[in-house]
Amino acid sequence: MTAWIVFAILVVALLMALAMRKAPLWMWAAVAALAVFVPQSGLLYGRFAPHLPGFWGLLAWLPAIMLALLSVPAIRRAVLIEPAFHAIKGMLPKVSETEQQALDAGTVGFDAELFSGTPDWHKLRAIPPIVLTAEEQAFLDGPTDELCRLIDDWQVRFEGKEVPEKIWSFVRKHGFLGMLISKEHGGLGFSPQAQSLILGKIASRSPDVVTIVMVPNSLGPGELIEKYGTDEQKHHYLPRLARGDEVPCFSLTGPTSGSDAATMRDIGYVAKGQHDGREVVGVRLSWDKRYITLGPDATLVGLAFRLFDPDGLLGKGEDIGITLALIPASHPGVNIGRRHLPSGAAFPNGPNWGKDVFIPMDWIIGGEKMVGQGWRMLMECLAAGRSISLPSSATAGAKAMLRFTTAYGRIRKQFGLPVARMEGIEEPLARLVETTYVNEAARAVTAAMVSRGEKPSVISALMKYQTTERMRRAVNDAMDIHGGRAICDGPTNYLQSAYQMVPVGITVEGANILTRTLITFAQGALRSHPWLYKEVQAVQNPDSRAGLEAFDRAFRGHIAFSVSNMAGAFFHNITGGLLGDVPENAFGTGEYYRQLWRQSRNFALVADLTVALLGGGLKTRQKITGRLADALSELYLTSCVLKRYEDDGKPSGDRHIVALAAQNGLYRFQQAIGGAIDNFPLPPARLLMRFLVFPFGRPYKPASDRLGGQVVRLVLEPGEVRDRLTRHIYVSRDVDDPTGILEVTLAKVIQAEEAEKKLEKAIRAGTIRRYHGIDWIADAAAKGVVTESEAMLLKEVEALTARVIAVDHFDPAEVRPNHMKPGHNAKAAERSAAE
Ligand SMILES: Cc1cc2nc3c(=O)[nH]c(=O)nc-3n(C[C@H](O)[C@H](O)[C@H](O)COP(=O)(O)OP(=O)(O)OC[C@H]3O[C@@H](n4cnc5c(N)ncnc54)[C@H](O)[C@@H]3O)c2cc1C
Repeated sequence: MTAWIVFAILVVALLMALAMRKAPLWMWAAVAALAVFVPQSGLLYGRFAPHLPGFWGLLAWLPAIMLALLSVPAIRRAVLIEPAFHAIKGMLPKVSETEQQALDAGTVGFDAELFSGTPDWHKLRAIPPIVLTAEEQAFLDGPTDELCRLIDDWQVRFEGKEVPEKIWSFVRKHGFLGMLISKEHGGLGFSPQAQSLILGKIASRSPDVVTIVMVPNSLGPGELIEKYGTDEQKHHYLPRLARGDEVPCFSLTGPTSGSDAATMRDIGYVAKGQHDGREVVGVRLSWDKRYITLGPDATLVGLAFRLFDPDGLLGKGEDIGITLALIPASHPGVNIGRRHLPSGAAFPNGPNWGKDVFIPMDWIIGGEKMVGQGWRMLMECLAAGRSISLPSSATAGAKAMLRFTTAYGRIRKQFGLPVARMEGIEEPLARLVETTYVNEAARAVTAAMVSRGEKPSVISALMKYQTTERMRRAVNDAMDIHGGRAICDGPTNYLQSAYQMVPVGITVEGANILTRTLITFAQGALRSHPWLYKEVQAVQNPDSRAGLEAFDRAFRGHIAFSVSNMAGAFFHNITGGLLGDVPENAFGTGEYYRQLWRQSRNFALVADLTVALLGGGLKTRQKITGRLADALSELYLTSCVLKRYEDDGKPSGDRHIVALAAQNGLYRFQQAIGGAIDNFPLPPARLLMRFLVFPFGRPYKPASDRLGGQVVRLVLEPGEVRDRLTRHIYVSRDVDDPTGILEVTLAKVIQAEEAEKKLEKAIRAGTIRRYHGIDWIADAAAKGVVTESEAMLLKEVEALTARVIAVDHFDPAEVRPNHMKPGHNAKAAERSAAE
């Protein structure tokens, strides 16, 4: 009996080892054959098999025989691979032409490690930490700081309702509009990491100003020209864009084509027409676009449209595909100028349209050879750009929320206590700390990937929706902690612009729901899964012999991967991740690496079964794919947290923050993957996954209240932890600045803490009365409750605090819209008379 048990354990261990090592088929066949001969194998079939007659004896040999036969390539192909090839052809998700271009556009990086179930931590560590050149650092500390100091947010978003000329001329003069344009073409040629930090600093001051800088530094259309433009286009436009002589915009979205932009109705026909007084081959365009940022002020319109060539003038077929063009806004037929009013924003945004507008062929970005390549060009730029623009502003926004709110929460008192010291407030404050740390960790790692030439399509998608969603929560938490002070708008309200602009970040560059449920996992799995894309490519290969051969390799790899996932996930779950891979020198974070490794195994298993079993239905099972996108995100973001901690030199002050972020990240991972398993539509697969992933139930809990409290205490004082958490944003120390006064007052409040305690004690005891009309501080000094110098400090704190908690109020005439103000119509009449 004991021998049987020992043997059974040995066999299971051997099988798991074979599975986890992805052993070749012949090895499995050999083990199956061995098992028949081993005398102790009675529990299975070895003891009886040799004595069993005919059929049963043969049956015992069957696994070994089948496995041996399958390891012969010709047999395997005939009985397994070819039927699977045809069956899978029908099952695999259908990939449209535009999806194919999106898939081909990006690169695969650390996301593939997480999909593999066995992440190589060295690859994570090999991503450089934040490195800026001396020139980039000087720009961040010099002109960027200066720009932030110049910005008056209230004046921009309310009084002027536009970005003022002095800001435009400053950004033009210092080259902000050409950060991504190479030096050769007159730009600053800054790295994506530097661009991300510069944009972030501006975003911490004004969402409007960062938008006017961000658009020219992304698709709009400097990046497209830099990457794909003809030499002539580069030489003509890039220096002009870098100097800000041109205001660019990029027009993709239309009334009927929002998220599904590729189905645009904007159309161009290749035709002959007149340009500059001669007949040339060009394109006759009709389009209708909306929501275009900088559109109303643009002098150069980047336009996406579908190109047709009915007369075969280009010889590339009739439906050429999505094409991009550069059109001067002054070109006859281009209609531009009116504005949308997005969510309180002051940056220009509006529609543009045209009908039968003729443009010459050399206005196509990249010229004639790039016709039909527009979607690929856009997707390539987006795969990189989505890693920079929105993550940088969402991260800086969260940092600003933390910096302002920790100061305000410490200054503002109720019930005799700073509100930040109340346990109920501690909860959202801990969330703010976590968001700030995690967003910055992931922002820096992702920007570093792009800086070394990657275009991480899956990671950029998850970064876009995760950082902006977390930013949205951070803004809401900051608003709640400020109470009415943040709700009443005015020149001293430093939260309103972020609150109003959050939905813009959520919606642009791929609305978040779509990005989470469709792009990150449903399309990302195809890209980052180690075998799936190879199978798809093999199945779609027009050379069926080569396709079958490639499919054989990929299919075998896929089966070995699936079997290895099942064994590996189960093994690491029953051992609590004890043997998960930990990189060297992971002192203090080893357990988190181990658990991430274990969960990567679980993710690989569930992701693999999901794509295999849901196949073409994946795109419509969005509640499953959304949760798997969340699970992948938590693995990525938590890995970045560990990397940031190491890159920063493991400062002891950050230890608790890392623990909080890692514990919550693992917990959220568990919720996400658990939700996907619990709702998996096929019951047998659901049961199998539940058994393999949670053999002993769900192991993680969210970080404790105690840890949350420890973390919050770290940031309620000025000091290195608070500074590190909010690094690279603009911090004013000017007492006349709405945010500067927070910093000044916080320092004084802390300095006056002891005197404050004495005063509060005397007030509670009834010795001192604190009511309007009484000078209670002078009274306290006179009664010896506080010293004269303490009284002076308390007076100073009181005056500053009164300014911090004050709310703006207006004369009704001041807040009336301009067009309703008396005299407005008279002025308009005067203007038109003069015209
Ligand atoms: C302020 C602002 C600035 C902008 N700037 C520009 C610009 O400069 N240039 C430009 O070309 N465009 C710009 N846009 C357009 C922006 O990119 C689109 O708004 C965005 O693509 C979403 O399109 P939509 O608003 O039409 O929403 P819809 O496409 O109508 O989507 C509505 C909702 O449905 C969800 N959804 C849609 N399809 C799916 C799906 N398959 N699965 C799951 N959910 C789905 C979306 O996530 C969203 O929540 C801007 C928009 C705004 C608001």
